Amino acid sequence: MDKHIIIVGSGVTGVFAATKLIEKGYPGHLITIIDKGKDAFNRKPNEIMNGFLGAGLFSDGKIAYLHNQIGGQLSKYCGKEKADDLVEEVVNTIKKLHPDPDKIMYSNPIEEPEFIKKYFKMRLAPVYHIGTEYLHEIGKNWYSWLRAKGVNFYFNTKVDNINFKTQCISLSKSVIYYDILIYATGKDGIDLTQKLIKKNKLKTESKPVQIGVRFEAPQKYFQKILDLAYDFKLYQEFEKEKINIRTFCVNSNAAYVVEEKTYGMKSYNGHSYKDKDKINNMVNFGIIMEIEGIKNPFSWAKKIVKKCQKDNKDISNLGKYSKFINNFIDDLNKIFQFGSNYKIYVPEVKFLTDEVLVNNNNLSLINYPNVHFGGDSLSARGIAVSAAQGLYIGEKIIENETKRNKS
Ligand SMILES: Cc1cc2nc3c(=O)[nH]c(=O)nc-3n(C[C@H](O)[C@H](O)[C@H](O)COP(=O)(O)OP(=O)(O)OC[C@H]3O[C@@H](n4cnc5c(N)ncnc54)[C@H](O)[C@@H]3O)c2cc1C
Repeated sequence: MDKHIIIVGSGVTGVFAATKLIEKGYPGHLITIIDKGKDAFNRKPNEIMNGFLGAGLFSDGKIAYLHNQIGGQLSKYCGKEKADDLVEEVVNTIKKLHPDPDKIMYSNPIEEPEFIKKYFKMRLAPVYHIGTEYLHEIGKNWYSWLRAKGVNFYFNTKVDNINFKTQCISLSKSVIYYDILIYATGKDGIDLTQKLIKKNKLKTESKPVQIGVRFEAPQKYFQKILDLAYDFKLYQEFEKEKINIRTFCVNSNAAYVVEEKTYGMKSYNGHSYKDKDKINNMVNFGIIMEIEGIKNPFSWAKKIVKKCQKDNKDISNLGKYSKFINNFIDDLNKIFQFGSNYKIYVPEVKFLTDEVLVNNNNLSLINYPNVHFGGDSLSARGIAVSAAQGLYIGEKIIENETKRNKS
């Protein structure tokens, strides 16, 4: 094991990949992690997307065993059994680093409750909730551990380009070469990912648009479903229109709507805190549509988000799709009876670029077997799958290097 591994992006995927490599005996001094953000000690809470643990560090830390996601974004590469094992390993890794593992919340709804059945279907999946404050502590412990193992970190260092043929990474004032590359720049790295796809003529498949609103209301109205599922996934499907619409990323107790900036444009997300001082008895969640069949889905979503900038309450900016959100809210109201006591923030968006085609057995690029893509840069959408993909890449690199050394 003598190859220089560079990980671009010290986010969820990159950190889990490095951890797996180290745990399997890869020499730390041969691993370099580059990130444009700061380390875990110096990151400020408003630096939501960049730095150690990426978008995961100040996220809500919900680790969902979402079978649809795991099916779609993980088991399609490695099979369902392996996907389940990987997600279990993700949770166990976090538990080991958690300052107080007993504080991790867990919900596992096993049956669709009767009161929602008339209007919605509900995805039943176990969810662990780590909590934002703990994640920061976990991040600091983790960063210190990786440093102690000899891993090199370049923070505040933006990658501008990568030439997969010459194995050269361009930074603003220098270049660095790799033998093996793990590329995981998440949502914040979309521009670079797009550029790399174009320049290196990578094969891709397109993804659906994911757009909607963040919904906020007093928690009391939703308590009966929160008692069953901490992160309830209610959904409706419209086959003819190729749309499915769902609740997404539910925050409660100390729940705040947060503004994100991507491409200089505002969109919304949610956080919930464990800190008692922050309790506000509110609930917020995304109501997200997944729309298939839109040509150039990425540019389409950008255009819609641009329209929403003037008025973050005006749902009509979602065009003909706004009626699906309005109907969804009306149906929620029939069950939870919050009347007009709610707010919406338009838009919540998941900018999904085309998905790079990879070899399933190690998530490496079809034409560049020493370049691995993972996390939101590939297909992940969320902590559980990004982390699991990181572990999977690390494991496969070790297997490959062990084989190479033997032969
Ligand atoms: C507010 C918020 C709350 C969330 N809550 C949850 C949740 O509760 N549960 C859940 O499952 N998911 C949640 N998510 C999503 C989750 O955090 C991401 O899906 C996950 O972090 C993706 O992991 P990743 O490794 O692909 O990318 P990231 O973790 O985003 O890491 C990518 C890293 O790459 C770096 N980078 C980007 N471009 C460059 C470049 N050009 N040069 C150098 N470095 C670069 C970034 O600085 C970043 O640190 C949340 C996201 C947000 C924003």
